Amino acid sequence: MFRNRSLLQYDSDGPSIGLITGVVILCLLVFGAVSVLFHRYVFRKRIREYMKTTLEFEEFEELMLHSQRERHEKLDEVVAGRDIIHGVTKLSKENVKSLAVIGIFGNSISGTSRLIALECAEWLEFETVQRPFDKLPEELKDKTIYFFYGWFGYWNDDLCSLEQVTKTLDFLAGVFSSEKPNNIKVIICMRSDLYDKYSTDLQKYEKLFENRLELTQRKRDEYGIHVDEKIKDRCKESDCGCKAITVDMLSKGKDTFIGIPLKINILTHFHELTSHYVNDRDILKVMKNHITALKEHDVYRWIKYICLKGQLSHSVFDVDLAKDIGIGEEHFDEENVYFKKYFTKNKLEKEETYVFWHPFIYICAFHSLYETEAFFVIAHCNVDAILQLLRPKDTVTSYIEISADEHHVSAFYERLKTINLHKKYDNHPLVRKAHQIGAEQIKK
Ligand SMILES: [Zn+2]
Repeated sequence: MFRNRSLLQYDSDGPSIGLITGVVILCLLVFGAVSVLFHRYVFRKRIREYMKTTLEFEEFEELMLHSQRERHEKLDEVVAGRDIIHGVTKLSKENVKSLAVIGIFGNSISGTSRLIALECAEWLEFETVQRPFDKLPEELKDKTIYFFYGWFGYWNDDLCSLEQVTKTLDFLAGVFSSEKPNNIKVIICMRSDLYDKYSTDLQKYEKLFENRLELTQRKRDEYGIHVDEKIKDRCKESDCGCKAITVDMLSKGKDTFIGIPLKINILTHFHELTSHYVNDRDILKVMKNHITALKEHDVYRWIKYICLKGQLSHSVFDVDLAKDIGIGEEHFDEENVYFKKYFTKNKLEKEETYVFWHPFIYICAFHSLYETEAFFVIAHCNVDAILQLLRPKDTVTSYIEISADEHHVSAFYERLKTINLHKKYDNHPLVRKAHQIGAEQIKK
């Protein structure tokens, strides 16, 4: 009786537990918001001090690393914080208009460039715009950082894109040499083998490339941390193949063409492939065989469709091809865990499209499809991918390129003729080879 009464009294006279909790949560929220704002204020002030070079680089670097750790804690890519800082410190300088980020395929060149663009924009209070190099906006807006990617071909060197590359570079050089002052900055992210290959052609644009950030291989122990944290520590099976993965193994396989960060990302995404990789250190082959083995799985049909079309777009859905493959648009499930292993939403385009989460996964799918049904690929795959990844048999091929036999080359040439693109690619080795085959046949 007494107890009940005291409880009742407490309820009616004193503050309720709900109210106290509410007040505490509100205080915490206000405190959180104030501390975030304060943090930002301090960092902004610091970057201005740095730009006026009153702050030592080391001190600035520490501050930036700290802020990055807070903001990119959940980042699943192997991106080196120090590379981003070096990029941001270069690009944030008032007189620096462009930054070229150069590195080997799979060394997180676009991941690093994207973060430099975002981070730098945050400091300077700029906007960011990301575009393929051949899709220039009509005009560049002030107080914006533009990040252009896919130079010389989105998946690989397409061998006929130099004209478009120079067109874009001419345009950018024009923007920066204009009398009208502007606050525009540009990041050019390019594969180092292509940068070297076309260095003579790029010399003319020296000014756009004078501020370079070269993503070289990093120290082994830095990669070792990622191998442990992302691959080994997350696995509870003591006899799993992943336990044998080492940085040494990742750097000395048949796949040295591909940067270690991408290999770590792939083995994180596809943990079940770690044992295969330990037995055969060729990431392209392991991934290609994995895709081929999916044949009976639902996701395989979508891999096929997206590989052939280059992307999945709902506005230009190819109903006939989909029917051929045995899929319907309504069956694409972006939330499905299995689909997420391969595809990602391409946020860069205005319209929502789906692509493989890395161009390399696309390349592996292309290799798998070409191996199992080459003529179907020749007949239905987007011509850009074929031009970028297929080479005639007697030419030297890189790790990601495929040698095509004469029947396939001729069939592809016939297709180019029907869509009236054969003249445009007259200089491409596949077209030159087709002419040669034709000439030989006439002789016979
Ligand atoms: Zn494991």
